[in-house]
Amino acid sequence: MEQQAKQLVTTQRTFFNTGQTKQVEYRIQALQNLREGIEKYQQRILDALRADLNKSEAEGYGSEIRIVLGELDYTLEHLREWATPRNVPTSPAMPDAASTIYPEPYGVALIIAPWNYPFQLAFGPLIGAIAAGNCAVIKPSELTPATSRLINDLIQDIYPEEYIAVMEGEVETSTALLNEKFDYIFFTGSTGVGRIVMKAAAEHLTPVTLELGGKSPAIVHRDADLKLAAQRLVRGKFLNAGQTCVAPDYLVVEEQVHDQLIEEIRAEVRDKFGDDVMQNKDFPHIVNTRNFDRLTAFLTNGKTLMGGRSNRDQLMIEPTVLGDIDWDSPVMQEEIFGPILPVFTYRDLNPMLDEIARRPKPLALYLFTENEALQEQVLNQVSFGGGCINETLSHMTSHYLPFGGVGESGMGSYHGQQSFEVFSHHKSILKRTK
Ligand code: NAD
Repeated sequence: MEQQAKQLVTTQRTFFNTGQTKQVEYRIQALQNLREGIEKYQQRILDALRADLNKSEAEGYGSEIRIVLGELDYTLEHLREWATPRNVPTSPAMPDAASTIYPEPYGVALIIAPWNYPFQLAFGPLIGAIAAGNCAVIKPSELTPATSRLINDLIQDIYPEEYIAVMEGEVETSTALLNEKFDYIFFTGSTGVGRIVMKAAAEHLTPVTLELGGKSPAIVHRDADLKLAAQRLVRGKFLNAGQTCVAPDYLVVEEQVHDQLIEEIRAEVRDKFGDDVMQNKDFPHIVNTRNFDRLTAFLTNGKTLMGGRSNRDQLMIEPTVLGDIDWDSPVMQEEIFGPILPVFTYRDLNPMLDEIARRPKPLALYLFTENEALQEQVLNQVSFGGGCINETLSHMTSHYLPFGGVGESGMGSYHGQQSFEVFSHHKSILKRTK
């Protein structure tokens, strides 16, 4: 395996050094090939997502394929402009000089992907790597084997190995790859493994982007439209059965609207998933028994306000809301990453905000209120990756909002133009004429 990793990096570096991938036409062709490949493999992608996570076709298409195609189209539309060197002003002290920033590819990039959106989170970064002119090796997650196989087949079908390659496997494969010298590493996964990746990258002084997780709060103030808040919270929390990095991890609601909000959430869950979610054939499954057992242990952490049932054979946990939680409960000690929503209430938001701000910086924060002073206060007081006001998740589907974490939820960002920038070195040149 070590040999395979070494060989792959050497082959790709040799190919990179031919300069072919630096040509913008080459990159555009590669992105068009990717688009055609995805269209050709569309049914296999949906089947793989169903096999690995029981994602319905609608969910698989909407939360994985459509997002990748959207990024591809946006990139194809703008790539020439992004890749053009940019002139910038020069100090008046040097009137004869001109200053230009040249974006150039790093070289050979490593993309390590997680299992929860196994298609989107492998191909999203790949679009940036290709757009910027790099070669790349993708290491998909071993926990979603059908999708991992499919990613490998698709890539082999459209690209030569010396340009883009997939190396499937478990931790040892990741470790073998991380021992090699890459020119850029783009990692999406847990905070713990993020530390391992950054240590390995430090050995070679390889720059990294770390897209990690964390506990993202959702805050509902008394003036919020509770029905709308419930709709958007249910969508954000129970998409992919809560196995979403930016899912609201826990809810913080003003005491006087708590009961009504829970009622609205209950109604919305019934509306969206049916009277008995356990019978819903399209509700995604928990990825494996280890995560199932980890999650079901949380079910006794508080008072069950909604849901609470599970089925180990089917790896199914129904949407669950837990009350009477305290900050020391096990469910509050790690990212939940499942369909369980603990709820806190407040009378005074300030101590709550202090508590949130004291904890590791979350990947996302969601705030439901029309009160603009309160919106400003929360944005000012709490540091987090990104988020929404009166909405959940949607900030990460915009081409215009760089997506990423801060502190323990990650470093660096991508999406839209930022995906091109993150895989580019910006070479600054000052040119004098005399
Ligand atoms: P993970 O960290 O366990 O695994 C991610 C990848 O790293 C996999 O390909 C895996 O094979 C590899 N890996 C695992 N252990 C390794 C090790 N010791 N050394 C080297 N490589 C190793 O994460 P996961 O369970 O696949 O994904 C869930 C986590 O990812 C959650 O924390 C979630 O919040 C986070 N996540 C973040 C984003 C984001 O965009 N910020 C998106 C999705 C998931």
